[in-house]
Amino acid sequence: MTRTDNDSWDITESVGATALGVAMARADETNTAHPLFTDRYAQLFVDAATVRGWQPHTSGPMAERRRAIGGYAAARTKWFDEYFIAAGANGIDQAVILAAGLDARAWRLPWVDGTVVYEVDQPKVLEFKADTLAAHGIRSAVNYRAVAVDLRQDWPTALRQAGFDPSTPTAWSAEGLLPYLSAQAQDLLFERIAELSAPGSRVAVEAFSPGFFDPENLARRREQFRRLRDEAADANAPDVQDLWYIEERTDLAAWLAQRGWRITATEALDLMAGYGRPAPAELTDLTPRSVFIEGRLHG
Ligand code: SAM
Repeated sequence: MTRTDNDSWDITESVGATALGVAMARADETNTAHPLFTDRYAQLFVDAATVRGWQPHTSGPMAERRRAIGGYAAARTKWFDEYFIAAGANGIDQAVILAAGLDARAWRLPWVDGTVVYEVDQPKVLEFKADTLAAHGIRSAVNYRAVAVDLRQDWPTALRQAGFDPSTPTAWSAEGLLPYLSAQAQDLLFERIAELSAPGSRVAVEAFSPGFFDPENLARRREQFRRLRDEAADANAPDVQDLWYIEERTDLAAWLAQRGWRITATEALDLMAGYGRPAPAELTDLTPRSVFIEGRLHG
C-alpha cells in the first residue's frame, strides 16, 4: 500500500487498522491471568469493527504469534499509563494524546480531578471510537475533548480551538505513531510540541533506536511475516511495514535535550523485561527496535 502526504483512513483501513491491532493486543493482555493493566474497552472496539466487516485473526498462526509477541504492546501500554499518572501526581492537568487511536486512557485511568484530556487523530478514527463508546453508554469521567485532525495538517490551531491552553504545563504522548509519519512530518510535529509546551511540560514518545530501520532487520521481519501469512493461508493480511516511512530520523532524545528537556530513555527489551514480559528468545527479532523516551521541561 502506498502512502501519500494527504491520505486519510477509516478504522478498518490502512493506518486506521493498526489502531485495531493495538486494541486486540490490549484485549489479549486484559484476558491473561495476571494482566499488566485492564482495558475493558479494547474488546468493545474489536467487536464493533468486526460488525463493520473487519476480520481479526482470533485463532490460528496469526493469533498465536500476536499473543507470543504481546509483551511489547503490554509493556508499552503500561509505560504510558504510568507516565500520565505520574504527570498528574506532579500537578499537570492538561494531557494531549497524539494519534490516540483506540487508546482508552481517557476512560480507564484515575485522572486527577480537573484534568482535561485531548485526543488527536484522524476524523473517522475518532468518530468510530465515539460511536462505539456511545453505543455502550460509556462516558469519560474526565473532561475529554476529541480533536479530529490530521497530524500533518495545522493541528495546533485545532487543539487551541478545542480549548488547549499553551500557558499551562502539558503531558504529551506519541505512542505507535512515528513510523507512520515521514521524517519531515516527525520533525514538524516535535517543533510544534516544543512551541506549545509551557515550562513544566512533559513528553512521552515511542521512538526509534538506531537499528529500527536497519535494512537486514526489516528484510528479516518482512520474510517472517510472509511465512506467517502463508501458514495462515491469508494472502491479504497487511504487512504493517508497507505503511511505514522507512527514512533516517532525527535523534529525538538529542533534539529534545538540546532544547532543555531532561531525558530518560529505555530500550524496548529492557522495558519488557522490567515489567516481567520479556520477548521469547526465538522472537526477539520481532520486537521493534524502539526506545521509550520521556522528556521533562524545567518548571
Ligand atoms: N496510540 C494508539 C495506541 O497505542 O493504541 C494508536 C496507535 S495506532 C498503531 C496508530 C494511530 O496513529 C492510528 O490511530 C492512526 O489513525 C494514527 N495516525 C497515524 N498518522 C496520523 C496522522 N497523520 N494524523 C492523525 N493520526 C494519525
